[in-house]
Amino acid sequence: MNNLSKRLSLIKENDLYRDCRYFCSSQAPKVNMEGKEVILLGSNNYLGLCDDARLKEAAIKAVNKYGVGAGGSRLTTGSYDLHRKLEEKIATFKGTENSLVFNTGYMANVGILSALCDRKWVIFCDKYNHASIIDGCLLSGAKLVRYKHCDMSDLERKIHIYKGKNNLIVTDGVFSMDGDVAPLKEIVKLAKRYEILTMVDDAHGVGVLGERGSGTAAYFGVSEHIDIQMGTLSKAIASVGGYIAGKKEVIDYFKNLSRSFIFSTGLPPASIAVSLKAIEIIEKDNKRRERLTVLSNWFKKELKLMGFNTTDTITPIIPVIIGDAKKANKLSENLLEEGIYIPAIRPPTVPKGTSRLRISLMATHTYEDLSYVLKVIKEQGRRLQIIEG
Ligand SMILES: *Cc1c(COP(=O)(O)O)cnc(C)c1O
Repeated sequence: MNNLSKRLSLIKENDLYRDCRYFCSSQAPKVNMEGKEVILLGSNNYLGLCDDARLKEAAIKAVNKYGVGAGGSRLTTGSYDLHRKLEEKIATFKGTENSLVFNTGYMANVGILSALCDRKWVIFCDKYNHASIIDGCLLSGAKLVRYKHCDMSDLERKIHIYKGKNNLIVTDGVFSMDGDVAPLKEIVKLAKRYEILTMVDDAHGVGVLGERGSGTAAYFGVSEHIDIQMGTLSKAIASVGGYIAGKKEVIDYFKNLSRSFIFSTGLPPASIAVSLKAIEIIEKDNKRRERLTVLSNWFKKELKLMGFNTTDTITPIIPVIIGDAKKANKLSENLLEEGIYIPAIRPPTVPKGTSRLRISLMATHTYEDLSYVLKVIKEQGRRLQIIEG
């Protein structure tokens, strides 16, 4: 085990060591973190639904009726009428014929890609795609061709060079660490021109973008042109799970061939009930989405005015790029001393030299708390010479 400690100390030396922080309250704009009340920025609970009374009640009702564990894998004894209802709900929400729920988004990506592709396939993959997509590509054994982030001329160039018999373009809808949005219209155009299948991972788009919050493809009006729409139930939807939505035959295929679907116990009924209720709320409640957009635009503008390096996005994900991992850590630590928790994101989650604070807002944040955060982040940014002044 000598090698383990060597690798660990190397990680520590490079300021890349990570450990869990523990909350003693629900995921909300303010949390009790290890005994201390802090303002939380960086959560994927975009719509603030993680502690919503209606969702808690849905979970409790499901526990009372169905108990706690699912008791089996989905194709044996682990499917409940709630699973079927949720899969129908997701299909309607996404405007597809059917859907299939996996236990996590990670498992959905790994299960979908490894069941669809094999050595004979070529997968064109945005450089900034989520790790679970990369792992799915690797597991499939397909040739993995990574194109420059959102760069359509690089994608087209690589299609010319590498295109094979079976091809897939896969992209995040909203990129998790940058908050920018994939150019889905252009991707669809290229896919049509070169007869390539398309897959979008909308983990961060669903609930946030598009009419009724149904995601990035809806935002661009290209839903019908995406062959495989994948997403998670763990972010804006405030529960747990991943899904694929598509044509009936596509869903049947993955139900029978995705190993991460087949060989794992189904999600507990309570989690399924929460997802079901959350989608109902999200479809109707435009106010939450609108408030989230207004808050995010204002917060981004203020950070820019202070001189922080951030990107223009239409999402609640606001990266504050620091560069150096040590400095990003230091800023995060200093903010914590002032009662603000924003985790520093470092390699391997983001490319080397782009360590950052990944700020993300919730619809339930208050102007008062966010103004305090802006004041402190300005002071600390100056103190660490990240911004001038
Ligand atoms: C979070 C995330 C996943 C994984 O989803 P989980 O439900 O957390 O396993 C997949 N893809 C992207 C883009 C994500 O951000």
